[in-house]
Amino acid sequence: MKIKMNPIAELDGDEMTRILWRQIKETLLEPFVELNTEYYDLGLPHRDETGDKVTVEAAEAIRRLHVGVKCATITPNAQRMEEYKLHSLWKSPNATIRAALDGTVFRTPIVTSRIKPYVRGWVKPITIARHAYGDIYKAVEMKVPGPGKAELVFTGEGGEQRQEIFTFKGSGILQGIHNRDDSIESFARACFGYALGRGEDLWFSAKDTISKVYDGNFREIFQRIYETEYRAAFEEKGISYFYTLIDDAVARVIRSEGGFVWATKNYDGDVMSDMISTAFGSLAMMTSVLVSPEGNYEYEAAHGTVTRHYYRHLKGEKTSTNPVATIFAWSGALRKRGELDGNEALAAFADKLEKAVLDTIEGGVMTADLAALCQGEDVRRADTEGFLRAIRMKLEA
Ligand code: NAP
Ligand code: MG
Repeated sequence: MKIKMNPIAELDGDEMTRILWRQIKETLLEPFVELNTEYYDLGLPHRDETGDKVTVEAAEAIRRLHVGVKCATITPNAQRMEEYKLHSLWKSPNATIRAALDGTVFRTPIVTSRIKPYVRGWVKPITIARHAYGDIYKAVEMKVPGPGKAELVFTGEGGEQRQEIFTFKGSGILQGIHNRDDSIESFARACFGYALGRGEDLWFSAKDTISKVYDGNFREIFQRIYETEYRAAFEEKGISYFYTLIDDAVARVIRSEGGFVWATKNYDGDVMSDMISTAFGSLAMMTSVLVSPEGNYEYEAAHGTVTRHYYRHLKGEKTSTNPVATIFAWSGALRKRGELDGNEALAAFADKLEKAVLDTIEGGVMTADLAALCQGEDVRRADTEGFLRAIRMKLEA
């Protein structure tokens, strides 16, 4: 008998990952689960037809149902505009959904003993959370043509505050950045909640020795929210929160064995998430979940639509595209649905599915990208379908 479930939002996408999406559902999900989804087609042609309304509706569905799973989607640029004859350069769906949910993105590598991280000591995954608002991503910048005085001016209800930045004797550059307390608070809550859910320590890093007011504010908000809202729950779970300077954090991360959540400011997260995913071995093994402070979850793979493989697929060639991160997006969403509803059968299926994927890789069957990273005589490269069939056999066993 198939496992029953309450609905989740299903956001379909583009290119090779759209092909994977259907194959994963047919081979690994539908035979076992009576899939109950609200389907939103975020494929670029349908986004264009609907004037991108479908993306907004999908975000609303995630808020209503609390759980969504998303396929990778094309973020259009000039070349895509031509390729798809678009009416407009639609915004990145991920940016639209993140803004609608006020969410934080957590990225976690899928770890198998077959793929050795570049950092020898890492045996558990490191989850990285990036504050995706403000700082240099919303900066205003100026070239200073020649001598003059630069000042920071704030005009509020209580009048004007003014501070000298620098008196230039020659030309130079200037930048103004900001952040909002409510955004930092949402970020902090998402991080504390997520670490609790995983049962892992939370680290937060910034540079408050140099940036006493700006980064100091981040540190204070995290500390206050920890003390007033999360300390008791953390202690009960036996996990901890700690703040450290970004440079100290980098050194500790490298020396660590993994197994924690690392919260970062916007720029640090931009840079460090690429470092972490590369050091763990493969972008195709990186999962991503968007978490809102109200407790809504959207799961996806961290990689894109794998365009180069798609063009080969269109020419009729068999491809060896790695479906693992997309499978884990589904298992993540099904497990969360199970947890929220007390649907143990569904959560157990998600565990079994992940185990079947890992066992298949441990057994030596994998896609070409992983085979290239693995040593061992017994490694067998499979095309995508062959790999999915091998997982299915483990799942049935
Ligand atoms: P990509 O799709 O992540 O692929 C870059 C390269 O990484 C691929 O060509 C492939 O290398 C390798 N790769 C990534 N995922 C793989 C997988 N599952 N299996 C095997 N190899 C994999 O990034 P992109 O080519 O820069 O972007 C393509 C499109 O995706 C763009 O239109 C972009 O807007 C979109 N995108 C969407 C998201 C999202 O929806 N979250 C994120 C990023 C990018 P080889 O070709 O060498 O095999
Ligand atoms: Mg980056």
